Amino acid sequence: MKEFHIEVPQQLEVIQFFEGLRKYAATIPEKRYPHQNRFIALLHLLCDSVSKLTRKRMEVESQSAVCGNGCDACCYFAEITSSRTEFDEIRHYLHSNMAADACSKLDQQWFVQENEHSSAVQPCPFLLQDQGCCSIYPVRPLGCRLLLSSRKCSKEDESSGAFDSCQEWSRLGWKEMPLRPDTLMKALESQRSGKDFFEPGKLYDEEKVDLKAFTHQELRGMLKQVQSTQTAEAPMCLQKQVVPPSIP
Ligand code: SF4
Ligand code: SF4
Repeated sequence: MKEFHIEVPQQLEVIQFFEGLRKYAATIPEKRYPHQNRFIALLHLLCDSVSKLTRKRMEVESQSAVCGNGCDACCYFAEITSSRTEFDEIRHYLHSNMAADACSKLDQQWFVQENEHSSAVQPCPFLLQDQGCCSIYPVRPLGCRLLLSSRKCSKEDESSGAFDSCQEWSRLGWKEMPLRPDTLMKALESQRSGKDFFEPGKLYDEEKVDLKAFTHQELRGMLKQVQSTQTAEAPMCLQKQVVPPSIP
């Protein structure tokens, strides 16, 4: 996949970019990445590879990552956005049988929040607060997948400084990727908008979704909405599983 290595911003042709990745994206294992859109599955697999690589690097440099199960302060205080195409995947996941249990727990949680009028900081709406775990874990967005910290964050410490190191470490891993997650994410957003060309790099605000910005009514609608990413110009959807690749 060397031809997708981007050193400097340049224009790339959307269809050609995805044609080059199509066969590869079809090999992502469904069990671990139950995404309908296999390009989003590829995006998330790349992020997980970066995260794994970064964890190893942190260990070598004696600043091991302390992130683990039940650790959820970042779900309260980090800026939590997803690309629009990742958000389609979240909706699809919530509507699938895989998330039936999580959906009913979320519904109860939102009902309690509506009635308690708490002034405390509200976390990401997809956090199952009593368990400290993510209800959409297999499809959680890139930003959540790349958070790592060498210092335990705490809910009492609301300073954003607690998350600085996560960003720094994440970037270390990105440099070693033949296909950068941010390039793929930009391509997916361009494809979604029906563009012919795209420039690798940062997403514009209109290409992002703020996960904390929803009302309870909107969230409930999301649980009920039938969502499919399988449209005419759509990304590749779930296919038969083939042999998984090794990245990197
Ligand atoms: S970023 Fe902070 S709160 Fe989040 S998992 Fe890591 S240590 Fe825990
Ligand atoms: S999507 Fe999941 S991991 Fe990300 S902030 Fe929300 S609850 Fe936490």
